[in-house]
Amino acid sequence: MKLSKKIGFLLLYTTITISIVISSMYAFIYNKLNKSSIDIIINYKGIFFTILFLMVISNILIYCFINTKIIKRLKVTEETIENVIYKDIKEKKLYDNKYRERDEITNLHNEISNVMDKLLDAKKYLKVEERNYSNILNAMSNAFFHLKAIEDENGDYIDGIVIDINYAASDFLELDREKIINKKLSELYEGFDIYKNKVIKVLKRIKQTKSECFARELNVIGDKWGVISIYFLNEGYFSIIINDVTEIKKHSEELTYLANYDTLTNLLNRHNLLEYMMELINKEEEFSIYFIDIDDFKNINDTLGHNTGDEVLRIAADKLLELKYSFDMETFNKITVGRVGGDEFLVVKEGKDSISEMKLLAKNILDALNKQFNIGMHTFNLKASIGISSYPSDGDNVFTLIKYADISMYRCKEEGGSRYKIFSEEMLEEINMQSSLSSAINNKEFEVYFQPIYDVNKEKIVAAEALTRWNTPEGIISPARYIPLAKKTGDIIKLDEFVLEEACKCCKTMQELGEKDFKVSINISYSAIKQSNLIEKLLSIINKEGIPPGSIKLEITEDEIIDNIDFTVNILNKLRELGFNIALDDFGVGYSSFNYIKILPLDTLKIDRSLLKSLEKDKKTLAIIETLIKLSHTLGLDVVCEGVEIHNQLELLKKINCDNIQGFYISKPIDFNSFKNFIIDFNKIERRDLSENNKEGREIRRV
Ligand code: C2E
Ligand code: CA
Ligand code: CA
Repeated sequence: MKLSKKIGFLLLYTTITISIVISSMYAFIYNKLNKSSIDIIINYKGIFFTILFLMVISNILIYCFINTKIIKRLKVTEETIENVIYKDIKEKKLYDNKYRERDEITNLHNEISNVMDKLLDAKKYLKVEERNYSNILNAMSNAFFHLKAIEDENGDYIDGIVIDINYAASDFLELDREKIINKKLSELYEGFDIYKNKVIKVLKRIKQTKSECFARELNVIGDKWGVISIYFLNEGYFSIIINDVTEIKKHSEELTYLANYDTLTNLLNRHNLLEYMMELINKEEEFSIYFIDIDDFKNINDTLGHNTGDEVLRIAADKLLELKYSFDMETFNKITVGRVGGDEFLVVKEGKDSISEMKLLAKNILDALNKQFNIGMHTFNLKASIGISSYPSDGDNVFTLIKYADISMYRCKEEGGSRYKIFSEEMLEEINMQSSLSSAINNKEFEVYFQPIYDVNKEKIVAAEALTRWNTPEGIISPARYIPLAKKTGDIIKLDEFVLEEACKCCKTMQELGEKDFKVSINISYSAIKQSNLIEKLLSIINKEGIPPGSIKLEITEDEIIDNIDFTVNILNKLRELGFNIALDDFGVGYSSFNYIKILPLDTLKIDRSLLKSLEKDKKTLAIIETLIKLSHTLGLDVVCEGVEIHNQLELLKKINCDNIQGFYISKPIDFNSFKNFIIDFNKIERRDLSENNKEGREIRRV
């Protein structure tokens, strides 16, 4: 029987026994008392019985109290102990058997000792677990914060107090443990005030969902960045785990910088500029780009070394930034400066600018770069070439815009640099023309036209100038457009050879027509003259066609030969010795010098039509031409005046003894067949048989 039951029974028996004893004592006293005493008792009988009754009742009440308050508790304690000690009924039975014989107190003692042992074991276990848990947390590289939630009147979490952290947490916040424990989340997280509503929302959610519900990259404190996760623990508690990503963030920021900025000048790099321009295009915002290339930078690098070169680029970048800062706020905000690579910079100017505004900014850039500076002993005044293109007028994508600005910039370089050019369609045509020039020569798209040269004294056509025409599906292209390009690309050499072949054919026909002294002039470029095998080439062509060198006149222009006059004199002498005729073309244009007429081995002087234009009105021009003619004659040269368009000019030229004239007055340059017919008519060559069997007119006899 359990101790509680035993005590219960004992108490019951004791209560009953005490009640009986009290009652017996009352009965005994009642019987043994004398009369007078009896009278008292009789008189106070009620009181006595009431006392008796109350004593019995209080005895019963004491029993009930002890039973409910002590015995029942004892019973519950016993049952709890049993439950703690015996995991199952089998174990309990074994125990019952073992201790059946022993007395209850010993059993209770044993049970309590047993419970105490178990409690001590549990405490030890808990301590070990706690240490393990703390070790695990401290070994974690992530910062861990255990917080007790601070709730508002509705029971929602609004903040938290830190009750535990690991080492990583202390490291992350760079604070000692004591300075973190008992601190509020709001005191530790710098952005708490700004993001208060968001934080409270998250805390509320984790309480409701009782799970993890937040993971985001945040700037927690100072420059510290972390990926934050918040977990619900048991009611009223939550934890925060921070994965420190400060280093990764820094690294990625560095990478972002490297990806977007030029490390040498700290300006935006090509990639960033492209993205920026693409953004503007996406927003359909108009803008212009200024593609800047420092002139002669290669020279600086080659002669002063790369370190100086780098320093020059840094200074150039600073100058461009200085220029940007010199503008008012509105313009300042519209200008972006970057380095595309090497010595190439790019300025992007937002907004639609007029031509004059673009020119002004380009000029400002040139002036800014041109400001003098020193590096060590060296003084610099940078010059640059700037190509400008605009969105959307020149192109609808970044690459086209850069290409066009680049083309314009190269145009500046070709013209000597230190200038700017705004892109135009014409430049593009030129580029296209340039690229198709070579194939056009091979595809025989070129045709040679002939312009008659009239002998004023003989009053007949004695020569012709061969001039090329480019036949394209869109029409004939004038040499004024493609000759400069062909000179640039070197295609002029092939073209000149082709013209010589055609000129020989023309000569042959003229000779067959009876014009034995007929000469054909061809324009020969300086690049052709420079060829080491020029003479062999010329001879091989004329020999193939069976034409003597004397029938060919080579026209040269002084602006081309001016750079290497000795070399030219040497070559021309050789050519003349072989029998070729040499003419100095376009005399009177630019810096024509009488000196050349003296130095160069010449047969003919061709006076440019620009001189002839003012012939009628201006007596000085007539005097100059007359002097030129006299001088030429003195030196043994004959003279051709170009650009004679009207009869009056011819008359005037006749008076001053001009030998030959060439111009629209006689004829424009015409194709070979037209030319042949023209000569036949002009020189009054009798057409004996130009019928079907003799279209080439070989049997033609001069009248
Ligand atoms: P150029 O050698 O001075 O040729 C004369 C140019 O003057 C020709 O222009 C001709 O059409 C033009 N001309 C002749 N008479 C008159 C006139 O009375 N009035 C006007 N307004 N113009 C007249 P074109 O044929 O356009 O040739 C331009 C230039 O292109 C030539 O100037 C020549 O320097 C160059 N060129 C043409 N063909 C060739 C070629 O096959 N090889 C080389 N190297 N240059 C060529
Ligand atoms: Ca010419
Ligand atoms: Ca000419």
